[in-house]
Amino acid sequence: MTKYIFVTGGVTSSLGKGIISASLAKLLQARGYRVTIQKFDPYINIDPGTLNPYEHGECYVTEDGAETDLDLGHYERFLNTPTSQSNNITTGRIYQNVINREREGAFLGKTVQVVPHITDEIKRNFRILGENGQYDIVITEIGGTVGDIESLPFVEAVRQFKWEEGSNNAIVIHLTLIPYLAAAGELKTKPTQHSVKMLLEYGIQPDILVCRTEHHINQDIRKKIALFCNVNINAVVESIDASTIYDVPLLMLKEQLDKTVLAKLKLPTKNEPNLDSWKNFLGRLKNPTAEIQIGLVGKYVELPDAYKSIIEAFVHAGAKNECKVKVVTIQSGNLTPENAIDKLKGLCGVLVAPGFGERGFEGKIEAIRYVRENNIPFFGICLGMQCAVVEYGRNVLGLAEANSTEMNPQTAHPVISMMEDQKDVKNMGGTMRLGAYACDLKAGSKAAAIYGKTHISERHRHRYEFNNAYLKQYKEGGMSTSGMNPDNGLVEIVELKNHPFFVGAQFHPELKSTVADPHPLFVNFVAASLAYARKK
Ligand code: GLN
Repeated sequence: MTKYIFVTGGVTSSLGKGIISASLAKLLQARGYRVTIQKFDPYINIDPGTLNPYEHGECYVTEDGAETDLDLGHYERFLNTPTSQSNNITTGRIYQNVINREREGAFLGKTVQVVPHITDEIKRNFRILGENGQYDIVITEIGGTVGDIESLPFVEAVRQFKWEEGSNNAIVIHLTLIPYLAAAGELKTKPTQHSVKMLLEYGIQPDILVCRTEHHINQDIRKKIALFCNVNINAVVESIDASTIYDVPLLMLKEQLDKTVLAKLKLPTKNEPNLDSWKNFLGRLKNPTAEIQIGLVGKYVELPDAYKSIIEAFVHAGAKNECKVKVVTIQSGNLTPENAIDKLKGLCGVLVAPGFGERGFEGKIEAIRYVRENNIPFFGICLGMQCAVVEYGRNVLGLAEANSTEMNPQTAHPVISMMEDQKDVKNMGGTMRLGAYACDLKAGSKAAAIYGKTHISERHRHRYEFNNAYLKQYKEGGMSTSGMNPDNGLVEIVELKNHPFFVGAQFHPELKSTVADPHPLFVNFVAASLAYARKK
């Protein structure tokens, strides 16, 4: 029988519910439990696919092509198991399902209401992943902060769910903040008390409190929180600020969060968690033998969350190479032919990021020209790969007007053009080419050497592609298309031979990089950048 853990947040947003959920899941997984994590977001968008990265950070794409919250990336990076459409549900999707059923006449003349119809639909979705016996434990993270108007139906659904399943089968972990008042020299528990009081007003007694804090909380504070919030003292868990998110599972282990959870759920503790390979990764992460700077050229660089998976993939690849990768962000909108040298010199590698629209496009082209001409390792992802194709067309093949039709629909040389099946698309939401597609790698290519095989599958999110009318010209001109979709001939990887590392991928390798399985393209790009640094 599947057991359920809900993770709610209080006091303020950005306390790291996603990391706590992922860390707890990691510990339970390391004890031998089959665990998954899902996230319920209170906003009305059907999914974050139509949101600007400045609004919401990166849009994470799953194997089955769902556009989801970036926390799902953390779940996959920690657990090394794929998530799916069912792992991320928004208020918008809940209402859409209910309204569609209303139009079908499924409610037989009843008035359709938040309680019970919306809350029933939320509970139905809470249960979906637990239904087929695939998981022992399903962790559900409730987005937003308890007390927000928009998350009320989720909180009420949790209350009902807990009542229906019983207190040994569904528990609530509430994440709060214990602020430190420097003037008083004290940690303050009152916001936590108030936050729990609010949960109690909604009929939920939290089982465990995870207290985010900058300073250790002593036994007296734990006792105080336990007494006033009505929980056991061992259910007050300290979550101290960590230097890396990858420390959090070990911090939670020290606090015995996993044991407390298992006791509440009446599950055996089984074995001590096997975290050998996790610790091994942390050892390499914290004891680098070298340090390099890699440039990340993009137009959303002011918000690092916009490139979350890329930044984490560098952490994994850096640890693998025992090399600290300092990612230097560069606003592509500010790059010109005149200042490119100044902004890019000193870097050992440059990654040109995915993106949409015209802003910053020409700056990305400049960055690529610079690294191509100066033999600096280059890695282009999605739009970054498309830019590499445009740059090569313009500056090597003599196609001065080479462009993507996304930037100039009238260009004389549309070397990147809209995919045929995208031309009639009217709606923006969920209509890109999304999720996992197969790719064949050319034997003898750099890509095949990096992957160590010739059949791969990677995740996508795009509307434009390499225009195969130019295939011959590019091949003859020295840019090889080393990865192709075997079913439709779509170019997936381009590379240059006479360059230490020049690879562009139409897909998003960063989405599949995990602690247990750093992505080979990132690992090799970092290795090439390290080699460049050593040679210099
Ligand atoms: N804008 C480009 C396209 O739609 C690239 C998308 C991306 O980088 N994810 O094809």
